Amino acid sequence: MEATIRKALGDPLFRRIGAIADRRGVQAYAIGGYVRDTFLLRPCTDIDIVVVGGGTGGGIAVAEELGREVRSRVNVFRNFGTAMLRVGEWEVEFVGARRESYRADSRKPIVEDGTMEDDQRRRDFTINAMAFGLNGDNFGELVDPFGGMEDMEAQLIRTPLDPDTTFSDDPLRMVRAIRFATQLDFRIEPETFAAIRRNRERIGIISRERIATEVEKIMRSPRPSKGWRLFDESGLLELIFPQLARLKGVETVRGRGHKDNFLHTLKVLDNIVPRTDHLWLRWAALLHDIGKPRTKAWDDRAGWTFHGHEVVGSKMIPAIFREQKLPMDERMKYVQKLVFLHLRPIILSEDEVTDSAVRRLLFEAGDDIDELMTLCEADITSGNDAKVRRYLANFALVRRKLKEIEEKDHIRNFQPPITGEIIMETYGLPPCRAVGVIKEGIKNAILDGEIPNEYEAAYALMERLAAAEGLAPCRRDEQ
Ligand code: ATP
Ligand code: MG
Repeated sequence: MEATIRKALGDPLFRRIGAIADRRGVQAYAIGGYVRDTFLLRPCTDIDIVVVGGGTGGGIAVAEELGREVRSRVNVFRNFGTAMLRVGEWEVEFVGARRESYRADSRKPIVEDGTMEDDQRRRDFTINAMAFGLNGDNFGELVDPFGGMEDMEAQLIRTPLDPDTTFSDDPLRMVRAIRFATQLDFRIEPETFAAIRRNRERIGIISRERIATEVEKIMRSPRPSKGWRLFDESGLLELIFPQLARLKGVETVRGRGHKDNFLHTLKVLDNIVPRTDHLWLRWAALLHDIGKPRTKAWDDRAGWTFHGHEVVGSKMIPAIFREQKLPMDERMKYVQKLVFLHLRPIILSEDEVTDSAVRRLLFEAGDDIDELMTLCEADITSGNDAKVRRYLANFALVRRKLKEIEEKDHIRNFQPPITGEIIMETYGLPPCRAVGVIKEGIKNAILDGEIPNEYEAAYALMERLAAAEGLAPCRRDEQ
């Protein structure tokens, strides 16, 4: 352990902070994520420093002195008593040791100067409350009053105080417990977990933005399903993501059940993780079947059906993104598009894979075609190996065809060679129905392979379609 700590504090920066603290007659500690990640051998470039003595401004004073020494600009947040600066690759945040007391009628704590132990007590989990001394007389000493090291070894998420107090003080910590359990693959200690269940309703006072930050870390984890499962088991899912909670469960009619769409969704999400780091593709996996509860129907002959769930699901995406404080830009559009198209490759592979169907899929998916195929492959969760192999083989065929046809026809970023402007100009038309009909006709003819994707052929077709609409070209000198 000593060797690990020596290495973690090997950068001269730590000695420098300690020397400043010695000179000022205060104590400085590295605390929280940096200490935890040292023992987990996780790379970490954020360092939190607590300064004891010197009042609430004690952290700021040390930061400013460090800033002068290393010639780095210090960002000071006086109302929070914090200061931040960059030193080389490090981002260092300073705070004065504090005691926080919460009252039931307010979300904001009363903050006072505190001892080191007061400061550790206000931390969310024992593994986040460990500190390294940085002063000359205690450099590299581990300060761990709540047994964080034991919990690290047992891989446990546990609150330093009575969990009801910790969670009721700041309910975001319930979400953070689930985030750390997922990210580090730790268990939540049973008393702590029971307190999350008891305090779950208090999540309502927390801003969606703060929750979204934690959820993103869950989505970037090696096995994000764990987080969603814990949200479900704690009762938080209902409260923070009701649309996902509605995917749960199996209904049976005449002995026939459908699959549990929540469990299926989590499998798809975990399936896609090793195939992509792309956060929004992971979101598409989580939301691909979100329209199923609203389209579920029983049919005496067909059994359970979810007709049009991809359409309904894609229409639900903007409201979900708004609620979850996810970006309302092209990233939302991307998820919406993948949800909308997620059945297409399957349908295509079930039929004969015709060139024209492949061209249409290429046209609609554009540059997202490979990621759509990745989503579809992850969507295969059957327990029947033969079936899985057959589906994957079909998709491989679809991928091959997609490549062949793209090389031949360049449909991916296809813009029909005859634009609406050309049509309007040639026939002296304002924007109107006939222009749309001609444009669609040309697009379909190209996608169906009836004419090549070229200007001459498209122009000739425009002339035929216009004649059928009773249009004659206007001569320039008539205008
Ligand atoms: P990471 O940066 O990898 O997400 P972290 O543990 O550094 O993890 P931060 O959000 O950066 O997490 O917080 C730094 C430290 O501040 C934590 O280790 C913890 O000690 C404390 N902390 C953060 N948020 C809270 C909170 N809501 N309640 C109590 N302590 C908190
Ligand atoms: Mg951090």
